Amino acid sequence: MRAFSLSVALLISAASAASADFASCVANLRSAATGAGVSGATFDRVMRGIEPDMRVIELMQNQPEFKTPIWDYLATLVDDQKVSEGRALIQQHASLLARIEQAYGVDRHAVVAVWGVESDYGNISGGRFLPQALSTAACFGPRRREFFRGELISTLKIIERGDLAAEKLRGSWAGAFGHTQFIPSTYLRLAVDFDGDGRRDLVDSIPDALASTANYLKRSGWITGASWGYEVKVPSGYSGPSGRTNKSPVDAWASRGITRLDGSAVSGLPAAGLLLPAGRNGPAFLVTRNFDAAYAYNAAESYALAISVLSDRLRGRPGIRTAWPTDDRGLSRAERKILQERLIARGYDVGKPDGAIGPLTRAAIKDVEAKLGMPQTGRPGGKVFDALR
Ligand code: CA
Repeated sequence: MRAFSLSVALLISAASAASADFASCVANLRSAATGAGVSGATFDRVMRGIEPDMRVIELMQNQPEFKTPIWDYLATLVDDQKVSEGRALIQQHASLLARIEQAYGVDRHAVVAVWGVESDYGNISGGRFLPQALSTAACFGPRRREFFRGELISTLKIIERGDLAAEKLRGSWAGAFGHTQFIPSTYLRLAVDFDGDGRRDLVDSIPDALASTANYLKRSGWITGASWGYEVKVPSGYSGPSGRTNKSPVDAWASRGITRLDGSAVSGLPAAGLLLPAGRNGPAFLVTRNFDAAYAYNAAESYALAISVLSDRLRGRPGIRTAWPTDDRGLSRAERKILQERLIARGYDVGKPDGAIGPLTRAAIKDVEAKLGMPQTGRPGGKVFDALR
């Protein structure tokens, strides 16, 4: 009991210390913001009553227990549901997308693929109030406090310009918001008003959001009319150059024995690099500057590949044909949901079966793997999915 009271007392004193720290930190943020041209009145109005959200710091520090294999990442981001929804949206917004192609020279399939990967076509854009999340990260973050301070100031500028009301600025803990998941500084640089109402609204205006994505890709070096690349076959024992940034003319790849999957000659691409996302024993791709433009959106090759492959599937082309070097395939969101239902049927509490894999589902998978005599990975893969059939 004594120990309990003591720990409560410690918690209360830690909380009041944090709160005092936050108040003085916010005062410093105010000087930085007004120094950058934000009015004190805007700062005070938006920041009034804000308490730190320490969950943001937990999320910043959260190290995933293992790196997501690329086949898991792609299986959820480019699944049949995302393809069919994307194709329906391309139909629905055909004339808008044609005007965006005209204005920015970026094809509709790439724009809609970014939309699908970033926010699941506007369905998932994050619920954290940006001024709260960004001020917490700027005051208590274990790293990059200046970056978050800059993003908070950009957020206040967006509000001050009247582009978006403060209450609309909800997004991820790191400040990405709206259909396109731009962070506030990217918004200030690259968002456009495409519906002509005088405001750049990436939260409620699909024309503004999709045109802003096209603008981003264009400004990242998009080559109008060119492909991102395609899947290729690499000769066995190949020991030549590889890597996204190690680009050669397509003829040079042909002379190194690289062919299309059906064995025909590689052609019709600007300079390309040979991407081997899972090493020599997995799928291989020649990738152009348009792949790099997708990479610029979010600096991960797996991300750029998700955008590229989804854009192909939206065009009606096949996805990746070569098998990944694993005997335990990744699951689509629909399959993840079925896996959760199978775990629930076995008596596990995994929360609502929604296809999102959180700590409860991982723990249940580990437990059931042990019962089935399988290695305990906690990973939602094809083997445990099939074993619970
Ligand atoms: Ca607008």
